[in-house]
Amino acid sequence: MQKKYLMTPGPTSVPTDVLLAQARDMIHHRAPAYTEVLREITARLKKVLGTEGDVVIFGSSGTGAMESSVVNLFSPGDKVVVISVGYFGDRYAAIAEEFGLQVIKLSYPRGSPADPLDLEKTLESHPETKGVFITHLDTSTGVENDLEAFGRLTNPRNVALIVDSISGLGSSPLYLDAWNLDVVVSGSQKAFMTPPGIAFAGISSRAWNMVERSRLPKFYWSYQKSKDAYNKPIPQNPFTPPVSLLVAFNEALKMVEKEGLENMWSRHRLLAEATRAGLRAMGLKLFATGGWGNGVTSVLPPEGVDGGKIVRMMREEFGITIAGGQGDLKGKIFRIGHLGYVDRLDIILTLAALEMTLARLGVEVELGSGVRGTQEVFLKAEG
Ligand SMILES: *Cc1c(COP(=O)(O)O)cnc(C)c1O
Repeated sequence: MQKKYLMTPGPTSVPTDVLLAQARDMIHHRAPAYTEVLREITARLKKVLGTEGDVVIFGSSGTGAMESSVVNLFSPGDKVVVISVGYFGDRYAAIAEEFGLQVIKLSYPRGSPADPLDLEKTLESHPETKGVFITHLDTSTGVENDLEAFGRLTNPRNVALIVDSISGLGSSPLYLDAWNLDVVVSGSQKAFMTPPGIAFAGISSRAWNMVERSRLPKFYWSYQKSKDAYNKPIPQNPFTPPVSLLVAFNEALKMVEKEGLENMWSRHRLLAEATRAGLRAMGLKLFATGGWGNGVTSVLPPEGVDGGKIVRMMREEFGITIAGGQGDLKGKIFRIGHLGYVDRLDIILTLAALEMTLARLGVEVELGSGVRGTQEVFLKAEG
């Protein structure tokens, strides 16, 4: 027998109450019972996003919501800036290019966050820029960008700031209204501890003005269709939503509400801090040099050890799934997710297994050193 642990930055572990909620009797998506669910989810997501504005919900992966922000706000040939600190920033650039936008890409070395000064200069020399895309937490490196600082640059210039917070939302603070963000997209399977399949977006009033002028084709992804359906006497989605998943998602959002958003952020911050401390105490080096986010930590394997090998042994020998590197970073790093339904002991046992994995791979590592590193952080936080 082997017990399984999912320590990846998405999909993440799903609590039993959320799993069971999917097994309830099917309800009709245009009937009052579903409306209740949709109303509750919408209200809870507004709180999570820090907005009084509209939220639209799709049956899709997170990338679908990313695409929705491109096709709903822009027209062919529009100039946009895409800030990329990793694999997911590159994805936003690829989507924008696919739809014929003129993309200026601000790329940063993997492991570093973006510098607002660069965006300021770019916006000065390209005043016709209509939108800026940025990743909150780039899950490929674990680096988080300072959204508030970027909002201070785009807002006075009336440029839309579009944020991929698929893994950031719920693990770190984000305030759509107060930080002048215009579209924030996220999904169910990261901090929100629900199976994959739901994506959503918070939309500012500036973004709605752009929706009215946008000429890119859209049908399924239309924000307007979502808004119109929600504003019917019986609020609903334009098309059949993943009803059972949404019932489960509502259950997960109830748990978020119960914990409290601020507590959820501080739990993730503490788990991230303990993970870093434990890894360093084991003698490992972090991949990112700063700007560490709260949802995932990227690690350099010891000299001469392939990161993929560590991931495989952790899974096969110990039942713990962590993540490897994506794209160019395949084999070069491994990543420990501490996102969603994760608590202190999950971190401790992951580092305990990592110590044993490294020892098996012939790396000199002091058993207990990583575990002790995390325990010290946890004890200090309580004292
Ligand atoms: C997971 C993730 C995505 C992609 O989401 P999918 O649901 O796989 O489409 C995009 N951006 C970030 C930052 C992510 O963490």
